[in-house]
Amino acid sequence: MFTKNVADGIHRIQNAYVNAYLVEDGDRVAIIDAGLPAMWAELQSALSEIGARPGRVSHMVLTHAHFDHLGVAAKVQSEYGVPVLVHRSDAYIATHPYRYKHEKPRFLYPVRYPKAVPVLFAMTKAGALKVKGLEDMRYLDTGPADYLPGNPEIIHTPGHTAGHVVRTPACTNTARSAPTPAAAPRRHATNSSHPSAEPPAKRPPSSPCESRCFGSL
Ligand SMILES: [Zn+2]
Repeated sequence: MFTKNVADGIHRIQNAYVNAYLVEDGDRVAIIDAGLPAMWAELQSALSEIGARPGRVSHMVLTHAHFDHLGVAAKVQSEYGVPVLVHRSDAYIATHPYRYKHEKPRFLYPVRYPKAVPVLFAMTKAGALKVKGLEDMRYLDTGPADYLPGNPEIIHTPGHTAGHVVRTPACTNTARSAPTPAAAPRRHATNSSHPSAEPPAKRPPSSPCESRCFGSL
């Protein structure tokens, strides 16, 4: 499912309980997270719907490199010829998407959380067991990243993975006006219903920038 303008210039693609985002900035587009392999067709449709040729895609940024965020990254890299950026602490799992240390034993998850079975089934159907690792990537540094569409600030938030990051528009960015409460979600935009993570705590944003922050699970 594709939803335009979940915030100003930010569009969401959902597939198998996993989210990815397009960030438009002038004639450039950044893809935030790569979902699962089945998201490829929806990505093409989403770009078409916002009138963006693949040539407008300048970067792919991964909030972290779990397999449900890595799905089409290698394909985007090869088909579009754009760099994939990931924090260096997630470089290993970006290369080997099934070798990370799991927070909890995966085989027990459906037993402990039976309501997750449909989620796991949908993710498997969307290619969760067929994600290709990256052979090449660029490391994502923390701090201002004005080379990326949206002029974000990258914040390292290790925990879910060692290289987990969130990105938020720089507060000094005047290219876009700050969203009003009615126009923007008043919490972090989470990027998946990853089965091994707890939902984010809901709380009001402390600043207009925070309300457009991309985190993930
Ligand atoms: Zn994850």
